Order: sequence, then C-alpha cells, then structure tokens
Amino acid sequence: MQLIESSRDLKSVLKIINDDKKVGFVPTMGSLHEGHLQLVRLAKQGNDVVVVSIFVNKRQFNDSKDFEKYPKSLEADLLLLQAVCEEVIVYAPSSASELFPENFSSVKVTLDGIENEMEGKSRPGHFQGVIDVVHQFFSQVHASTAYFGEKDFQQLAIIRMLAEQHFPQLTIVGVPTIRNSRGLALSSRNALLTNEELIRAEEVNKSLSEISSKYHLLGDSIVFLETSRLKELGFVIDYIAVANSETLKSPLNHETKESLRAFAAVFLGNVRLIDNVAIKA
Ligand code: AMP
Repeated sequence: MQLIESSRDLKSVLKIINDDKKVGFVPTMGSLHEGHLQLVRLAKQGNDVVVVSIFVNKRQFNDSKDFEKYPKSLEADLLLLQAVCEEVIVYAPSSASELFPENFSSVKVTLDGIENEMEGKSRPGHFQGVIDVVHQFFSQVHASTAYFGEKDFQQLAIIRMLAEQHFPQLTIVGVPTIRNSRGLALSSRNALLTNEELIRAEEVNKSLSEISSKYHLLGDSIVFLETSRLKELGFVIDYIAVANSETLKSPLNHETKESLRAFAAVFLGNVRLIDNVAIKA
C-alpha cells in the first residue's frame, strides 16, 4: 500500500505506471465500510492498479455542522484497504489546495434538470461541490474506470454526465448498495447513530421495500402511508419520493411502464440518512 498526500507525489507515482496498465479509481470520503470495500474489490478485479481517494470535501457540504461532525478514521481505513487490496494506492490530499488551485473555477456540466430534484433541492450547492471535486480527482488520477455506489443514485447519474461531457475515455461503473443483514444501507454516517437509532434506521429500507412492491398497485397512497409510518417512528422526513431512474423526475402516473425507483432522505436526530430501491415492475 502507498499513502500519498500531495498531487505532486501522485503525479510521480502514476508516471512510473505503464500506459497500457488499467487504473481503477474509487473516490471516498473515508470512514470506510463494506460498501466502500465492495467498490474497491470490483476495481481490483477489473484493473491492474487501484487508486482510492479519501477526502472529506467541504465544498459539497451545504451544512457546516454536518461537515465538522463527519466521521474520520484514516488509520482504520488504511487497515481495511490493505486487507482488501495489498497494492492499493491511497490518495488522501493533505489539504484542499492539492485539488483546487487558487484560480479554480467551478466546472460546468449540462445536467438536464437532474440537479434540481431531491438531493439537489434539499442541499443547495451540494452537487456542484461533488462535480468540482470529482472533476479534479479525475483530472489527477487518469483512471480507465471509476466506481460509484447506487446508494447515492442521483450523484451516480450526475457523475455519468460529468464523465460523458469532460472525460469521454473514462468508464463509470455503478455498484448496487451494500446493506446489513436486516436491510440497512451501510453509510459512514451510521457511525453517528446510537445503538437504538441504528436499529430504528432499518425502518427506512422497510418502507422503501413496501413502496417498491406496492407502488404500481396503490400509487402515491403507499408513499403517503409509509411517510406517515416513519414520522410516527420519530423520523423527520426530508423527502420520500418515487422518480424515473433516468430523469429523476416524478412518474406520469403509477401505472407507467417507466423504470422507477423509490428514494428517501430522513433525519434521525440530527443525522441525515438516504437510501433508494428499484420499484418492482
Ligand atoms: P462516500 O464516502 O459516502 O462519499 O462514498 C464513496 C462511494 O461509496 C460513493 O460512490 C458511494 O455511493 C459509495 N457507497 C457508500 N455507501 C455505499 C453502500 N452501502 N453500498 C455501495 N456503495 C456505497
């Protein structure tokens, strides 16, 4: 394993890798769990070299408190990565200036309105922050394939558009969400929950599963029912919504043949959790 903290060192390490070698890239904000490790395993299977970045990107946090309390565990992360991929190159920029030069100006991507739905509506500036940091990582890492989780489904859609428009040689692979045995989507933010809240958090996926199996029959009433159920359990609901898997806009009606997903963003205490599942045809 190599730990690299500057863009200069990254450049010199990448220079000695032959041009014909395939580089797989996994961007993360650290506090790693099995979800991240699954991305790393796939990167290892499909490439000669694996680069994992660990960087908590302030630009994508619309809430400064959320940024400050974001869990960090670099030592533990390195051990986990080493166990999954001995030769991994870990790029953990020591400061934002390794990614963003003083004259940096935000990257423009045409997003066809995807950026205004759900997470975009609830977290102003979030996706531009994601686009900016991922653009800078892509520019520095020169990967052939980059791996992203479906856990952040809307982000994955936006990254695909960023790659199409700015990095046409780069393949983006979307990876299904890794869950615990009772369905809870693994997330770094789960580390901020109490044991009782961790168990209660499992109800989010239960609601999404109910919506998934009943939406075509019941339409918005099942969304309403599950939203009320989660409220009664003490969740504060940001949104629970069904949307088209590509445009991320609301479906025409519940009998539509469009490919749909159910999305949730909820607060448990002051921890914000998101999840999504495909709607059963
Ligand atoms: P993060 O560190 O939260 O920014 O996540 C880094 C990458 O890991 C993103 O592409 C996420 O979508 C992905 N990821 C996070 N949690 C999971 C999970 N439970 N299953 C699969 N991928 C995940």
